[in-house]
Amino acid sequence: MPQRNASTRLKVNPFDSMVASVTEAAKTLKLSPNLLPILTSPERMVEVRVPLRHDDGTVSVYEGYRVQYSSARGPYKGGIRYHQNVDLDEVKALAGWMAWKCAVVDVPYGGGKGGIAIDPKPLSVGELERLTRTFTRRIAPFVGPHVDIPAPDVNTNSQTMAWFMDEYSRTTGQHDFGVITGKPLQLGGSLGRDTATAQGGAYVLLRHLAKQDRKAQGLTVAIQGFGNAGRHAATILEQAGLTIVAVSDSQGGIYNPKGLNLAHVGLAKDEHGSVTKYCGAQAVSNEALLGLEIDILIPAALEHQLTTTTAGTVKASIILELANGPTTPEADRMLEQNGTIVIPDILANAGGVTVSYFEWTQNISGHYWTAREVQDRLKERMEQSYEAIAQMAKEQTVSLRRAAYLVAVTRVAEALAQRGGL
Ligand code: NAD
Repeated sequence: MPQRNASTRLKVNPFDSMVASVTEAAKTLKLSPNLLPILTSPERMVEVRVPLRHDDGTVSVYEGYRVQYSSARGPYKGGIRYHQNVDLDEVKALAGWMAWKCAVVDVPYGGGKGGIAIDPKPLSVGELERLTRTFTRRIAPFVGPHVDIPAPDVNTNSQTMAWFMDEYSRTTGQHDFGVITGKPLQLGGSLGRDTATAQGGAYVLLRHLAKQDRKAQGLTVAIQGFGNAGRHAATILEQAGLTIVAVSDSQGGIYNPKGLNLAHVGLAKDEHGSVTKYCGAQAVSNEALLGLEIDILIPAALEHQLTTTTAGTVKASIILELANGPTTPEADRMLEQNGTIVIPDILANAGGVTVSYFEWTQNISGHYWTAREVQDRLKERMEQSYEAIAQMAKEQTVSLRRAAYLVAVTRVAEALAQRGGL
């Protein structure tokens, strides 16, 4: 299975998708035309070259990016991705989505995102560390605990965050735990950050089902992507009584209509590198997984998986977008017409940035919270955000995605207007 559908990648630019959603919201809100160019372009784009000395002594140079989309509501905030398909348009889109997401869950941040165009899978631990430290030094002048606070994303994790924090702290000569979130617990990380994206999505999904008077027990789920977001979502939703019938990773997927044994799927991933090595299910391609006979579909991998080609095959009644931007605007319209409820990325996966905010708050104050405190506050914030968006959707008779953009764009536009200085 290719990492991304090549024809889709050529046709639909993720940044254009993000701009389309914002433009539509700005029109509905009748915002001043002067604001639109500000809302639809990043404040700053940093491009860096990242040299890496490989273990065999050879040197390669990779492209790195940090896009700072909006600081209207606070410091820039957003993850760092290591992936061969990373490019400026993708990082711009991801940075913009962060700005809208932070506004949806009302955390005091703007939006940013970064990445390196590299396939990190063949790299040794030493190579990954040198790559991360060099990238940190390259972008150090542009980040900081009150300036821009990165976090994990695809193919980066708490170890990557620890190296980043350490290298940044060496450049400033201070212990700057608050420069990055998603750190290990011993280095200022927060309890509950590792599961936060999936847990936040689960809180929203369960609230949505309760509002529809639908029982969660026994509903079937397929999840595309078995990393931080998708894997934790499988476990959390199984604990809530749902049945996980299909999961996938970049090598392909597995499907058993009676349900998967998640412990064994996890072992196949950890010991053999892919869920496809699990025995006890039939093979399914990443594309076919999207069209399975299931109740809930969870894209938790990369952008633009639901396209005009794949959206027509979807049979799930609910899509929970744990990935950022998994649906193209045209596919979104098709799903809306077919009556599929899409819980949009800027709400569904906002649990990650919410607990990142909790982590940063703990770093700044020096007071650390219990797991219970983190969970209670995450649940409260996700449910409140869902209610505000469901209410907006009802009032305006629009989809949850359109409602989420109306809420987010209103909040960012108000902050811009109140700051003034244009
Ligand atoms: P990850 O690197 O931990 O996992 C990504 C998973 O997707 C892996 O299992 C990988 O094999 C799989 N994958 C890659 N290409 C694929 C393809 N073409 N088809 C199917 N599977 C594929 O990354 P993650 O942190 O879980 O991020 C996944 C998505 O969730 C991304 O869109 C990310 O931006 C979004 N997200 C993550 C967080 C977070 O806190 N980690 C927060 C918000 C949003």
